[in-house]
Amino acid sequence: MIRVDEQASTLAEGLPIRRESSIKSYITVMYGCNNFCSYCIVPYVRGRERSRRADDIVREAEQLVASGVKEIMLIGQNVNSYGLDSDEDVSFAQLLHRVTGTGIERVRFMTSHPKDLSDALIDEMAHNPAIAPHLHLPVQAGNDRILAAMNRRYTRAQYLDRVRSLRAAITHIGLTTDLIVAFPGETEEEFLDTLSLVEEVRYDSAYTFIYSPRKGTRAAEMPGRIAPDVATDRIERLIAAQERITGEILSSMKGQTEQVLVEGMSRRRETQLTGKTGRNINVNFNGNPSDVGRMVSVRITGAGSNTLRGEKEED
Ligand code: SF4
Repeated sequence: MIRVDEQASTLAEGLPIRRESSIKSYITVMYGCNNFCSYCIVPYVRGRERSRRADDIVREAEQLVASGVKEIMLIGQNVNSYGLDSDEDVSFAQLLHRVTGTGIERVRFMTSHPKDLSDALIDEMAHNPAIAPHLHLPVQAGNDRILAAMNRRYTRAQYLDRVRSLRAAITHIGLTTDLIVAFPGETEEEFLDTLSLVEEVRYDSAYTFIYSPRKGTRAAEMPGRIAPDVATDRIERLIAAQERITGEILSSMKGQTEQVLVEGMSRRRETQLTGKTGRNINVNFNGNPSDVGRMVSVRITGAGSNTLRGEKEED
């Protein structure tokens, strides 16, 4: 899935649009953000990081499990720094461990700031089968000067090192990201660094944005605004690259068996069910409505531009 949004609501790392159901739900684990990326308004409007008590989060998860929820997404602007503001001494990796201890079938989380992605979290993801093998890891840009101007506080090399660690520990992990093109002063060569990073990481999908200034942020005062035609050309090249990579990744999944949480009937074909793999990719397949809400094994038989087709395997 690729979203182009020149007026992204915050230009912050996108928290998911909440689509709660009896099958999937969300728990906010923390509020606010301390990072002050130069293009983002969130720390000004939502304040500093405040982590919720771990016991309260686990109790909420227990209640959701008891009500039949199968998948929980833990959300916060930067879940990787969960607990750093609190006296509880519970890291995000430890919180994940406790939440999966409630018996929930699948847990996801977002958003992860790359600079705070710990080895302990990677280790928990690698060894805890209830944590989905998917990580949304916003990189924003692939050039060190632009990353510094964005105040992201990691370099391209440090980001790629985290990607290598993730893939070494969790071989089947799917990565997704957020990307901004035409940040103030971005040269063609600097844009090409973002393009080459996308080629190197090979994300399952990416949210792509043309930079747009937010009043009150440091980037809004920076010189070097990029002409709209240049910005459009860059984002089109970025999207084309990501679409090709997404297609290649999805095609390579043919023949694999995926664990799919069935979310409902397909909107396009009434006879088909739809659900998501652990890597958060949509799969459509023939099945029985009684499978809605269940985790089923689906053999992948085909791929579209951003969805998979499959056949349910026998129970
Ligand atoms: S990490 Fe950066 S982009 Fe994300 S919410 Fe915080 S300041 Fe905004």
